[in-house]
Amino acid sequence: MTDQSINSERLWSRIMDMAEIGEIPRNGSRRLAMSQDDIDGRELFLAWCKNRGYQTFYDKIGNLFVRRSGTEVSALPVVLGSHLDTQPNGGRFDGMLGVLAGLEVLETLDDHKISTRKHIDVAVWTNEEGTRFQPAMMGSGVFTGTLSLPETLATKDSNGVSVSDELIAHGYDKGLPPGNHRIGRYIELHIEQGPVLEAEEKTIGIVTGGQAIRWFNVTLQGEETHAGPVPMASRKDPVPALARIIDLVFQIAEVDMASRATIGEIDTFPSSINVVPGQIQVSVDLRSPDESVLENMQQRFLEGIQTIAKANKHLKIEANCIWHSAVVQFDKDMVDAVRGAALKRDYAAMEIVSGAGHDAFNLARIAPTTMVFIPCKDGISHNEREYASPEHVEAGANVLLDTALQFAGKIVSAAQDANAGERV
Ligand SMILES: [Zn+2]
Repeated sequence: MTDQSINSERLWSRIMDMAEIGEIPRNGSRRLAMSQDDIDGRELFLAWCKNRGYQTFYDKIGNLFVRRSGTEVSALPVVLGSHLDTQPNGGRFDGMLGVLAGLEVLETLDDHKISTRKHIDVAVWTNEEGTRFQPAMMGSGVFTGTLSLPETLATKDSNGVSVSDELIAHGYDKGLPPGNHRIGRYIELHIEQGPVLEAEEKTIGIVTGGQAIRWFNVTLQGEETHAGPVPMASRKDPVPALARIIDLVFQIAEVDMASRATIGEIDTFPSSINVVPGQIQVSVDLRSPDESVLENMQQRFLEGIQTIAKANKHLKIEANCIWHSAVVQFDKDMVDAVRGAALKRDYAAMEIVSGAGHDAFNLARIAPTTMVFIPCKDGISHNEREYASPEHVEAGANVLLDTALQFAGKIVSAAQDANAGERV
């Protein structure tokens, strides 16, 4: 038996309205972090919030918060959130879903005149995508203390414009110290960005955590020479060794079904059709939901690189780990609450580990956290074609509502319940 449900038409129309800001062909949206389009998207969101009379505030990295007050003034809030910035060729759901469904939860509680003991906030984290300014998950990283505020503010885009420049230009420079706004719990609704839920015909992904990730830069140093006059045996050509490295990386990922290996960047220098490259730089991204498996993958990778380097003494080959993120385990009670909500509403659900990074991974460092996934068509995301059905959006938002209410403490009034009193 469910007491109340979100207004799916309102939520859907808000998602479509938001998509018109920074609209690009083929149903996509482009709102790069702190660009005018991103600011316009925030303004639209704020207008909806202010229309309801919710309190709004922001911090010095531009994270935005909206509050529907609870009765216990000093209790830490239950925070729902995600991001409004997009990839250059972004879709309509990645990020927006979690923010707009958060607002929908607040409005649903208003519509049904439901009070909660704790505040429920909606957070819009700055620059989740990391396209214009690196790294990704910037706002939540500063908020949770994994990134330093001064260094992050000084970060520049490819045109030399800093995060700080944009925050000042758009009036976001006089906010609270990040992290000053303490939170009790965090819940993020998001599209899966992969094909698993759709293939398994599930409506809800009960997200138990996130994969561990390690990034490497591999450099192969050879010598530039003309493609014609120099015999093959006399060259210091790094490309044959690159082929061995590519083989190595993809063999490592065969360890089990859950592991991933990706070579996303291969840069040759000077990158000319008739020049043997003098240098190649390769990026390697290794992931696993199991830290010990990933440790083993890293060991095999680095040993393999050493073997290739020994067999290619005419080259200088080096691999360096440049970033890592540990396995994230979400809060057991909150994961159980998501499962319970899906069960109560009869939504087909399964446990899933997030393959993508999310602001929730940062939040999990400072507060009990969980995520809810819904399927996206063909598993496609970071693409204009990204699509989630209205039914799945509705289901995800209802699970968000139920989970938020469980932890915010729904107050049942005497009129609603003959027994009266407070209930969690
Ligand atoms: Zn996202």
